[in-house]
Amino acid sequence: MLAGKRVLLIVAGGVAAYKSLELVRLLRGAGAAVRCVLTAGGARFVAPLALAALSEDKVYRDLFSLTDESEMGHIRLSREADILVAAPATADLIARMAGGRADDLASAVLLAADKPVLVAPAMNARMWAHPATRRNAAALAADGVHRVGPEAGDLACGETGPGRMAEPAAILAAIDRLLGAAPLAGVRALVTSGPTHEPLDPVRYIANRSSGKQGHAIARALGDLGAEVALVSGPSAEPDPPRARAVRVETAEAMLAACRAALPVDVAVCAAAVADWRARAPANRKAKRGAAESRTVELVANPDILAALCAAGGDRPRLVVGFAAETEDVVANARAKRAAKGCDWIVANDVSESAGVFGGDRNSVHVIDDGGVESWPPAAKAEVARRLAARIAAALDARAAA
Ligand code: C5P
Repeated sequence: MLAGKRVLLIVAGGVAAYKSLELVRLLRGAGAAVRCVLTAGGARFVAPLALAALSEDKVYRDLFSLTDESEMGHIRLSREADILVAAPATADLIARMAGGRADDLASAVLLAADKPVLVAPAMNARMWAHPATRRNAAALAADGVHRVGPEAGDLACGETGPGRMAEPAAILAAIDRLLGAAPLAGVRALVTSGPTHEPLDPVRYIANRSSGKQGHAIARALGDLGAEVALVSGPSAEPDPPRARAVRVETAEAMLAACRAALPVDVAVCAAAVADWRARAPANRKAKRGAAESRTVELVANPDILAALCAAGGDRPRLVVGFAAETEDVVANARAKRAAKGCDWIVANDVSESAGVFGGDRNSVHVIDDGGVESWPPAAKAEVARRLAARIAAALDARAAA
């Protein structure tokens, strides 16, 4: 199932580390090459020799070992894997990942990762339930880190509750899902994200509250499924997702030009909140307030990028997905928008202030296509992105088969 795939397994210091030996065995049995990074804590629970023997590779332990670094630096260790799996992922490792630490080999390879990362948490139930761990787990989810478990049951500490590491077979299945399938391999995708800034003069601009979180998460999720992604983004604090070719722009006109330059693509997802208007004649110099009590700025309509992509003739992507940010009559307005713009699907979300979507980490959407409306439960934007990417993969697959 996993023939030719390379798994970098990070074993941290928890009792569950003994199950990692079984995981290595299962992965090898499925045809994967396994390389292990063992933390200092992990080495208290499993013998490096046992991991080395089962993985048939050397076990990497030290960030600063001259021998290891000369043979295999942490960046190369990270690059030469198709997936990074932290099992067990202790509360401490999860906290360090959430904090972006790189003070040992395990955290450094995880920070350097440009591939899917899967964590299998294992800890005492109270540690798992602690608000700090909840925050850290949410931060990892928002960063696009995948998770399997933990499961509820008897824990090694004698207590009962959620905290037990997922069984090796469940971890293998999660790896298989993430890797076995690269359903979008060979597919070219274009994603727009973030707001646009439309200048009024050299220091002032018209903007909106879009954070770019949802669009960037979609670019990341499409990349995780193997797509070749061009991300055209307005100003956003979100980091460029790994694997995506990111182009940063400011204005709607620049965004349209960058999108046209990215064609042809198979699928386009327009998640950007493009300003509808721009100043007809932005001032070259900072406008002075002076004595004027009012001021008029003439606005002209911006190009509609989504509509332009839908009308791109022979260059029209096979699948075009638009977004509709609505504050009322969400589904009805989104339906009308889908028809007006000519896109295949429209993802409608409620951005009224009470929904907390703008800038927040969660989203609740309705996906509207020819078949009707699918309402998805509220979820982290990263999860909405994964689900959308999987739906895109299924649709392209079905069309290819048709
Ligand atoms: O018309 P409205 O802005 O509500 O439409 C939202 C959808 O259209 C989003 O997918 C957005 O990215 C796209 N759009 C665009 N260019 C514009 C305006 C909206 O691509 N100028």
